[in-house]
Amino acid sequence: MHDDDWICGRLGEDEPWILGAVNPPVFENSLFTFGSAEELGEAIRNEDERYVYWRGTNPTVDLAQRKLAALERGERAKCFGSGMGAISATISSLVSAGDHVLVLGAVYGPTTQFLRYLEKYGVTHTHVDDLAGCDSAIKASTRLLYFESPSYMAYEVVDIAEVTAWARQRGLVTAMDNTWSTPLFQKPLTMGVDLVVHSLSKYVGGHSDLVGGVVVGPARLIRPLALTEYQLYGAAMSPHDAAKVIKGLRTLPVRMAAHQERGLAVAAFLEQHPVVRSVNHPGLPSHPGHAIALRQMSGFSSLFSFVLDTDSRQEVGAFLDKLRHFRIGVSWGGFESLVNAPALTVEESVRSTMGIPVGLVRLSVGLEPADTLTKDLGAALEELA
Ligand code: PLP
Repeated sequence: MHDDDWICGRLGEDEPWILGAVNPPVFENSLFTFGSAEELGEAIRNEDERYVYWRGTNPTVDLAQRKLAALERGERAKCFGSGMGAISATISSLVSAGDHVLVLGAVYGPTTQFLRYLEKYGVTHTHVDDLAGCDSAIKASTRLLYFESPSYMAYEVVDIAEVTAWARQRGLVTAMDNTWSTPLFQKPLTMGVDLVVHSLSKYVGGHSDLVGGVVVGPARLIRPLALTEYQLYGAAMSPHDAAKVIKGLRTLPVRMAAHQERGLAVAAFLEQHPVVRSVNHPGLPSHPGHAIALRQMSGFSSLFSFVLDTDSRQEVGAFLDKLRHFRIGVSWGGFESLVNAPALTVEESVRSTMGIPVGLVRLSVGLEPADTLTKDLGAALEELA
């Protein structure tokens, strides 16, 4: 097995079709042609592995998939036109009418919306907070356990090995969103997860110029998904976006080291500030999941939240407006530091049901020097003091 640096920079790039080019060719053709009708028929019967039509397979996309599969220590990967494309296809491939899904901890909002959407096809779900909740909510029809770690917005840590052992004993399949950690800092397949999904729009792309997703796992689960949900939902990744994924991977190890260092410096600064109630960053020793995180992760990304000492939406808005280096916007994981606050963007009833405090602010720490960012935050916090 190659190490992650080699996988990111070189895996698959010494093959003859690359012709020694320092960046692999982008195959822009929508279809491939064949020497005979028989050859075409054979390719169509094995379309997950043969190049027939861009909506199914493409050599540039394939190279990105091979790198992502190797990084996650999985057999196969399938790239999609968005993270939600990967998530909706993955969940759809694992459930049928009448099945029940357990959702452990807070997950990305549109993932929950998708599970609600599936109710019209007779697939139900229950949100639970921990394994005791799983024990009470499991039914004879439960098929899938879905989770993120660290969790959405609160960045709580799930003990992955414990959860997958619990699921396996009960015959459930597990799927996990690993976007926060990137395939460099956490490898859930090695801890028993069946399928791992990512939004590639975040750290993997890294330059806020890409929307993409991937699912990684054993061939026995990826092959049917590639032949069915990938082809039928049509959320295919374009070869141009695959080229951006490949470029993003080249610098992922150095970018993640910088994100980690800057994110932790900013989190530590906020933690000691008098107008900050709490900081939710699993890399801080004060975080309740820190010990588990150290066991199952080899690093920390730079997306985290903290709670301002206020219950006023206006004050939260004024705090965001005061920041000069953090730009206000959705998404995360790019070179640029971003700020967002659910009290201003999420429907009030949803925010309170999810238990998100009014004063919660989410930061995506980019690649700017940490002291530039702490000065920016410090000046805006002064106004609240
Ligand atoms: N998973 C997580 C944790 C996310 O934050 C997001 C997007 O913000 C997604 C999945 C969906 O990814 P995409 O926007 O690429 O569809």
